[in-house]
Amino acid sequence: MRILIAEDDQVLADGLMRSLRGTGAAVDHVANGSEAEAALLANSEFDLLILDLGLPKMHGLEVLRRLRGRGQTLPVLILTAADGVDERVKGLDLGADDYMAKPFALNELEARVRALTRRGMGAASAVIRHGPLEYDQSGHVAHIDGKLIDLSARELGLLEVLLQRSGRLVSKEQLVERLCEWGEEVSHNAIEVYIHRLRKKIEQGPIRIATVRGLGYCLEKIQG
Ligand code: CA
Repeated sequence: MRILIAEDDQVLADGLMRSLRGTGAAVDHVANGSEAEAALLANSEFDLLILDLGLPKMHGLEVLRRLRGRGQTLPVLILTAADGVDERVKGLDLGADDYMAKPFALNELEARVRALTRRGMGAASAVIRHGPLEYDQSGHVAHIDGKLIDLSARELGLLEVLLQRSGRLVSKEQLVERLCEWGEEVSHNAIEVYIHRLRKKIEQGPIRIATVRGLGYCLEKIQG
């Protein structure tokens, strides 16, 4: 999962990044509205935008208005001042999906992020099933036949992307974009290494990650 945070309060942004990275998400951060606008124009792979409304250079509501004006549908969680009732209402009217009033508890924010990204992917439940494999998107744990699989944060992120697109080709480029943050150098070779490790841990019975030569990977559909 890839999340963009637009927040000019560096302490709050750092806390958000730490907390969300701990759940296996790739998190990018911008500190003003025009950078947020540029990031959203340049990258369509974000699964969620966490948008502070009181941003320098371009107000959060303007970022949101332009985003929806372009028809970009990614879920948006706005952050508002405790007394920002009018802004909150405007934000929701402009197409924000949820809001948090500052100050808020990080675990509540995490829960809302989970709910929004699930909705964004059209899944009502937090658990994705794939044959004997069960992946819990809220707890970030995977089980095969009820047995816990020990996966690193990177492997969990990779598994999540493959499961969300099960039966479809996922290119190495898409994996890099979904898993990696700006400034992070992750080569296609590194993706191969992560896939190799993930395979060793999850490939059993009918579960198989197929390599589509020169193109990418596909978590093969399980019949029945
Ligand atoms: Ca602010």
